[in-house]
Amino acid sequence: MPLVTLRQVLDEAQKREFAVGAFNFNNMEQLQGVMQAFKNTRCFGIIQASRGALKYTNHDFLHHLALAAVELFPDVPIVLHLDHGDSLDTVKKVISLGFTSVMIDGSRLSFEENVALTRSVVDFAHPRGVSVEGELGVLGGIEEDVEGKSAFTDPDQVEEFVAKTGVDALAVAVGTSHGAYKFSAEPRIRQDLIQETHRRVPDCAVVLHGASSVPSSLIEEIDRYGGSMSKAKGVPIKMLQEAIKRGIRKINVDTDVRLAVTATIRRVLNERPDVFDPREYLGEARKRITSIVEEKTRAFGGANRVPEDFQPISLKDQAARYSRG
Ligand SMILES: [Zn+2]
Repeated sequence: MPLVTLRQVLDEAQKREFAVGAFNFNNMEQLQGVMQAFKNTRCFGIIQASRGALKYTNHDFLHHLALAAVELFPDVPIVLHLDHGDSLDTVKKVISLGFTSVMIDGSRLSFEENVALTRSVVDFAHPRGVSVEGELGVLGGIEEDVEGKSAFTDPDQVEEFVAKTGVDALAVAVGTSHGAYKFSAEPRIRQDLIQETHRRVPDCAVVLHGASSVPSSLIEEIDRYGGSMSKAKGVPIKMLQEAIKRGIRKINVDTDVRLAVTATIRRVLNERPDVFDPREYLGEARKRITSIVEEKTRAFGGANRVPEDFQPISLKDQAARYSRG
């Protein structure tokens, strides 16, 4: 089937109260590993690329990798999403590459500037049927080249932001952060802010970034084979499941896949010092990605959610829906 829109997938998630995992990719093995997991669990899948990924792959490779995924996994409804877009220019570029969804991150701007930038993206994307995710509040940690101080999402701004911009999805800052070192003390997220945001804008899907769990088993494996990440800490799965109950419908995961790849490559090279064929350790890493993505999809309630008679809404039909309001 063709790529589907984030809007359609999140509407399904909204209706049946589960969350869809969104996984970043930068190369073939990552994408293959993730796609295999989507297929095995019969779930909706979001594959996303950051600006860093587009730069690393030089756009065109990434575009063709995504086309291969669509062709080789015809039963999986996939959204191709831009993660942390920074400008209307980036958005135009990826929409020309066939992305069906974009995030515009104006969270570091003033409220008015964030509204204006996000509105300009919606005005470009919606007539093309493309979905838009915005962000209110500032996440801590480091996302590619964006570093900043965190500030929780203010629920009092949520309705105005969504009404003025028309976004399909809204990323919130509730205590999570990007990267492998999310908490110096016990993990804690503001579930009340998630619930309040969902209550105020029930038709706009609430999105959680910086939501990797950083499993201690992976950290121990990395450290056992020469790494040094003992202080890494993430968001426990139980906390994510509570967040889904309160209204989270898209959960971004990048760090856990990176950790799985690194742990696997370190282990294989360490246990088998004679290995020099990259297919040996990249192949193992790919299998590991599949199992971690399957695990997450099940934990998020997303497994076996694609109806037998699922029909993707075309970009053209979606554009018509948007114009009807
Ligand atoms: Zn993010």
